[in-house]
Amino acid sequence: MKKFAVFGNPIAQSLSPTIHQMFAQQCNEDISYEKILAPEEGFVEAATRFLAQPDAIGCNVTMPFKLDAYHLAQVDDQAAKDAKAVNTLMNHEDGTIKGFNTDGVGLVNDLLNNGVALKNKRVLLIGAGGAARGVISPLLEAGVASLIMTNRTIARAEQVANETNHTRLSVVSLDNIASVKPHVIINSTAASLHNELPCRIDAKVLEDCEVVYDMVYKNSPTLFMREAKARGVNQCLDGLGMLVEQAASAFQIWTGKTPRTQTVVSELRAIVS
Ligand code: NDP
Repeated sequence: MKKFAVFGNPIAQSLSPTIHQMFAQQCNEDISYEKILAPEEGFVEAATRFLAQPDAIGCNVTMPFKLDAYHLAQVDDQAAKDAKAVNTLMNHEDGTIKGFNTDGVGLVNDLLNNGVALKNKRVLLIGAGGAARGVISPLLEAGVASLIMTNRTIARAEQVANETNHTRLSVVSLDNIASVKPHVIINSTAASLHNELPCRIDAKVLEDCEVVYDMVYKNSPTLFMREAKARGVNQCLDGLGMLVEQAASAFQIWTGKTPRTQTVVSELRAIVS
């Protein structure tokens, strides 16, 4: 039996074991996948111990350990390098632990699954944490015309933009987001977890907006999605599809098999609601 796990703190709410068991069933893989609550300072030791087991193939890493995982792993993956954050670890046959970031490809695939065209679009990315960092290079690779970051703590967004140094990436303060006239707005902040808005999204901000995406998912549309819908944005998506797509990409890295995601999204939607 191939062994997998997800490390986080907290971790009880994680849907990853359910998702990966669904993938394994589809792909005829015999796996175990456990949730491991790592102590705040103890992720590296816990993950190293897990990966040293004979049948351990890899693990996922969630908040707040993605940066620790980046430092633990050998990283060739460009999205992980840009993000300086890793959400997928794998034992490599050369004896090293390889690190990947599948959050960005998960977001882009979910947008594409929902018929959202990214090519030549202006995209406003709200937030500058680990999740925002992970999606920058995949969004740029998907052909967006410009990616504009904003964040409550603006210095954090500026630091990300300086570190990644992409020509199509810029920063705007929360007070000036209306000047961006975004076609797509992505909320990568944790604000929706607390039923808060990450910023004001008035009619001016939404003038050209076709799609609003919230990385958080709940049992009903988030406040951010509801506010955008009320102001006329037709397509308001949550992050459940991204969660499944980033998991599918990790599963593919580990097993070489590509699971079908849409049935899994539907089944999870029923579980979450
Ligand atoms: P981090 O802790 O690294 O960053 C949090 C970000 O949210 C920062 O930009 C922070 O701003 C901002 N923020 C937090 N609270 C508020 C608030 N009340 N108002 C405005 N901004 C706020 O977290 P991550 O980036 O790793 O994750 C962010 C969210 O994305 C989480 O809720 C997570 O669940 C979700 N996520 C979803 C995924 C999916 O597959 N659907 C994958 C990864 C993440 P500041 O810098 O000012 O503190």
